[in-house]
Amino acid sequence: MSNEKHALIIGAGLSGLASALALMQKGWQVTLYEQAQEHKGIGAGIVLAANAMKALDKLGVGQEVRELGAAVRSARIRDWKGNLLVELPVAEQAERYGADSYLIHRADLQQALLAKISTHELVLGKQLVSFSQEKERVHAAFADGSSAHGTILLGADGIHSRVRKSLFGEDSMRYSGYTAIRGIATYQDPRYPLESGGGFEAWGKGIRFGFSHIGNNRIHWFAAINAPEGENDGPMGRKRETLRRLDGWYEPVRAVIEATEDAAILRHDIYDRAPLRKWSEGRVTLVGDAAHPMLPNLGQGAGQGMEDALVLARCLADNGTDSAHALRMYEEKRKKRANAIVKGSRLMGAVTQWENPLAIAARHFLLKTIPARIQSRRLDWIVGHEV
Ligand SMILES: Cc1cc2nc3c(=O)[nH]c(=O)nc-3n(C[C@H](O)[C@H](O)[C@H](O)COP(=O)(O)OP(=O)(O)OC[C@H]3O[C@@H](n4cnc5c(N)ncnc54)[C@H](O)[C@@H]3O)c2cc1C
Repeated sequence: MSNEKHALIIGAGLSGLASALALMQKGWQVTLYEQAQEHKGIGAGIVLAANAMKALDKLGVGQEVRELGAAVRSARIRDWKGNLLVELPVAEQAERYGADSYLIHRADLQQALLAKISTHELVLGKQLVSFSQEKERVHAAFADGSSAHGTILLGADGIHSRVRKSLFGEDSMRYSGYTAIRGIATYQDPRYPLESGGGFEAWGKGIRFGFSHIGNNRIHWFAAINAPEGENDGPMGRKRETLRRLDGWYEPVRAVIEATEDAAILRHDIYDRAPLRKWSEGRVTLVGDAAHPMLPNLGQGAGQGMEDALVLARCLADNGTDSAHALRMYEEKRKKRANAIVKGSRLMGAVTQWENPLAIAARHFLLKTIPARIQSRRLDWIVGHEV
């Protein structure tokens, strides 16, 4: 293609799709190359905090997300027996940030983004194997022997990013020490009515459990459980084993798991990578998890990918034909914040997964005694941000 503003986007996950929309808004031509043969409706619930919702509004899909998802209008943290530790002032937070936070099924979010992309902009079944760049262009080569060229190349290819590895070499993933078990169930509990949205988290010894509405009468739940890396489900199977680990916990913890189809329960060991000092090289850069894979404890992975997309598009628009300079500007504007959230997510996970009874008692004492308004301010720099 001869267009001097043509982006090759590797990976059509949430960050790749968001980047495509943001760049198109600035007059760029985009082609998304996705290795999967089809978009499967997999995944569980995903939280989109106020900063992510504002980014989605700018990408033109905020309204769809509000219709498909559920606003967070109540958020409580309990101990594993159900004793209330803190009720976060979500209405006050939403007013301060100028937006509600939402939960949505990942597949619904992906569909909302995909609906804005035309079929000729997305090529499925294309796995990038290598790329090269010269002064004016980048070339991408795919596993099926085909190739493409464009003005810039974006690695939106996730935590196992080939683009990142080619640019900066292999770096090992860091196992968090816990595995995430997640499910979605059609489930109702009068204490957590659909109208109030949100839900609760229950924190125990080496286990954190979450329960939230995600719209359409569905509850998303997760259990983050301390476990050796690569541990199998055990002879009882995933569902029974999870129920065993949560024996005696506050109901509706076990009830919502019971209401979930066994085969639909997901399990993933949780990883991140150490922050990078650079994301770009010439006409090639990284966005989303490829740039800053983070533990999910602050619910910011997708939101940070959306922020990347908007800032990148703005830098490209502001820098005319000097794309390499625009990519450097993008990296400068985004790196500090994204890397700080990688670190914050690790810290949050360390505290929520504690096993030491004394440390847990201290944690719960602080949650109960520090005013909720002050606790909620701790996240202002993340959730109150607007790109
Ligand atoms: C348990 C868990 C819970 C989470 N909860 C939340 C949450 O509540 N809120 C939140 O904001 N975030 C959450 N996240 C993080 C969020 O899911 C990720 O940050 C986000 O999905 C990253 O999107 P991405 O597009 O950057 O990467 P990915 O979703 O990994 O997409 C990368 C895409 O690139 C494709 N690809 C890879 N290699 C190639 C190649 N060589 N050629 C072509 N295509 C390729 C892949 O097939 C894939 O489609 C959670 C993560 C986990 C693990």
